[in-house]
Amino acid sequence: MNKYLPLGKISFGMGDRFGHQGRAQLRACIQATELGAEITPVWNKSNREHSFIGTDPSSLRIEADAAIKSLGWKKPYHVDADHIRLETVDRFIAPSDFFTIDVADSIGKPAPADEVQRFVKRHAELAGKICVPGIGYPIDISRAEVERVANKFLLAVNEAGNIYRHIAGTKGAQNFITEVSMDETDTPQTPHELLIILAALGDERIPLQTIAPKFTGRFNKGVDYVGDLRQFEKEFSDDLAVIADAVMKYGLPASLKLSVHSGSDKFSIYEPMRRALKKSNAGVHIKTAGTTWLEELIGLAEAGGDGLAMAREIYAEAIEHVDEFCVPYAAVIDIDKTRLPAFRTVNGWGPEQFVAALRHDQKNPLFNPSFRQLLHVSFKVAARKGDRYLEALKKHEAVIAKNVTENLFERHLKPLLFGESERTSPVRKVPLVASPT
Ligand SMILES: [Zn+2]
Repeated sequence: MNKYLPLGKISFGMGDRFGHQGRAQLRACIQATELGAEITPVWNKSNREHSFIGTDPSSLRIEADAAIKSLGWKKPYHVDADHIRLETVDRFIAPSDFFTIDVADSIGKPAPADEVQRFVKRHAELAGKICVPGIGYPIDISRAEVERVANKFLLAVNEAGNIYRHIAGTKGAQNFITEVSMDETDTPQTPHELLIILAALGDERIPLQTIAPKFTGRFNKGVDYVGDLRQFEKEFSDDLAVIADAVMKYGLPASLKLSVHSGSDKFSIYEPMRRALKKSNAGVHIKTAGTTWLEELIGLAEAGGDGLAMAREIYAEAIEHVDEFCVPYAAVIDIDKTRLPAFRTVNGWGPEQFVAALRHDQKNPLFNPSFRQLLHVSFKVAARKGDRYLEALKKHEAVIAKNVTENLFERHLKPLLFGESERTSPVRKVPLVASPT
């Protein structure tokens, strides 16, 4: 297998649309390490986000480096070119050292018949009853099923190989981490499909360290998971077993792990994931994104005065363009329009009421998921305000930073790394898989 830049066992991806919260985000990681966790911070931003906001990929590197320097972080950290493709990767190559190669668009496009046949022949071990350690029953895959899965995914895998080799040719294989993402597609990949996909990625000699499948259930933007938690836990834990098996069989890096593109705030799956990871001593990459911008709005509202006025103004424009903002995200939001308050109503809200409606505290009866999701997808309103918005971020930096750090630490890192029941305990706890494999 080719050389690669190693990735830590537990890594945490953070998105920051407007590029001002790097330090506040890193502070949350520092707080987790102070409690004994070992985590690798990763800053991620997709080509899509860069084009919406009008930023260049180099700005994320500058932001991450500045945060690292300012807070004296001495351990590894990375900058992730999130969801890139062959036609968009070039401007990411110099500033990034983590590449999320998105091949979801090629899933389902039939692969050349002779390639499918060669794959099926080469991987006779995939057909029949397969015993994967960690899965309590044999997986039974017929030869026809191997063929079906190969036909569905081989083109996507070949494309991942092309993009990987393009990056490696420019940057040097030893200088970056490779992720392949298949999450932005219609149907979840089952554990046995994942095994076949990993065999194919091994054939492509991609030193894959993270893979992002689509999981069962709904991963709506900025709100909690919707789906069957028991089924999720089983699928997640079977995927972990399949990955460990594929590492042995197909020469993939030992550090290969699942990447969960959470769309942020999937609080209810943290505990099931934690249990599964603990049981199998596996690592994980969690990708959160986007909701840092909601913490900026919360901070502005909490600041009152002109901060609150800016937050109200953004909502007024968001509700005015509700269809325009929601259509591109239709598959990943569930907004009940009857629950969206009129802008006149919101203009009458004080800081507490605005914050309570927006902050993701499901125990608060004033929390309004429709209000939150609309604002989440309306970041273009803030982007259009340009310097006026950025000046407000600077002016209210202290209160915003507090919200950004607290959100990542209290609602994400703590439940994932330390568990729900331990959240309120001041005693130093043994965190999830602190020891290297
Ligand atoms: Zn994704």
